[in-house]
Amino acid sequence: MTNCRLCQREAKEKDGFCTYHLAAMDSLVRGYDAWKDAYSELTWLQYLTRVKQLKGTGEWVKEVIEFEMKKERD
Ligand SMILES: [Zn+2]
Repeated sequence: MTNCRLCQREAKEKDGFCTYHLAAMDSLVRGYDAWKDAYSELTWLQYLTRVKQLKGTGEWVKEVIEFEMKKERD
């Protein structure tokens, strides 16, 4: 078995996330699609930066955001 890239739970797939982080990632991707319709020039990184600042953003989502932002910077 493989661990989640962000926590010690079992990952659903190799090099993947656990159920919780996977759900957080899914909601991020879905949200990005919706936001792109509203703001045409929004990049993935800009989107992540904005969502991170929202008060309603949960901890799972924030962890995925930080992971993605780090990946973009590398
Ligand atoms: Zn996880």
